[in-house]
Amino acid sequence: MELTSHHRLHLLSSTDWKDAVITLLEPRSPYRPWHGGEDEGQEGDTVALVLNTDPPSIVADVGHVGDSRELRQATFRESFASPNVVDVDTFMTVLGLGMRADTFDGDDAIKVELSLDECRYRSAPRSRFGHNDLARARTLLRFNGRCDGCEQEVDLTGMDARDQLFVHTVDHEMQETSIILGYPDWPAVMCRGCRDRMAEDGHASFVDYKFTLNPSCPQCRGHRACEIFYGMPSDHENVPPWEYAGGCCVESVTWWCGICSTTW
Ligand SMILES: [Zn+2]
Ligand SMILES: [Zn+2]
Repeated sequence: MELTSHHRLHLLSSTDWKDAVITLLEPRSPYRPWHGGEDEGQEGDTVALVLNTDPPSIVADVGHVGDSRELRQATFRESFASPNVVDVDTFMTVLGLGMRADTFDGDDAIKVELSLDECRYRSAPRSRFGHNDLARARTLLRFNGRCDGCEQEVDLTGMDARDQLFVHTVDHEMQETSIILGYPDWPAVMCRGCRDRMAEDGHASFVDYKFTLNPSCPQCRGHRACEIFYGMPSDHENVPPWEYAGGCCVESVTWWCGICSTTW
């Protein structure tokens, strides 16, 4: 047990949460969005990231400090594959750790790490609904390098990255799904072009905007063409409303109409 008694977890806080998320998505980003710098850790210490969202949140992942002893150089599991964020004060209160410290030692550190691990994959769509920073951060953390609208790549390596990504937030009421049309809106990350075009064309819902980019149905002429993907979806509830699971047998059709079910 000697090892655990010397084990230390550091909390590293962001100065700008959007910049911080961008550095997690793109490690080559020139942004330096973390507090401190001098207070280095020891090799083998762990790091958890606190975002200055409103309310403050903690990223559900744990990094390991390497031989540079720099907290900001800590390495996280593989890449940041859409980790969750949770309200940090609630998280600490539930763990009985009350006041938020900058470091946790021994059993407390392990308790925080295990609990973060449990929160890691809780990423149901409803956690991204609502007009608040936590929903914004969770949506942004799911950004896959391409605009959810036009699917063009968005370069995050430049100083202007923060001005190239726009998070579309959605009312809680939009979670209501109809059997025919599914989600009326969906939290999304857009490029500047799509943000402007969606506003100019007067679309209140990102889902409506997205469907205007897809072809209209050759049968009913409706604008509800979902792109078909094949294979088993690994995360079924997070399949966006403009995609359709076509099953495991690859067929030659690309589109499925959400109104009349025609495929073509
Ligand atoms: Zn776009
Ligand atoms: Zn149709």
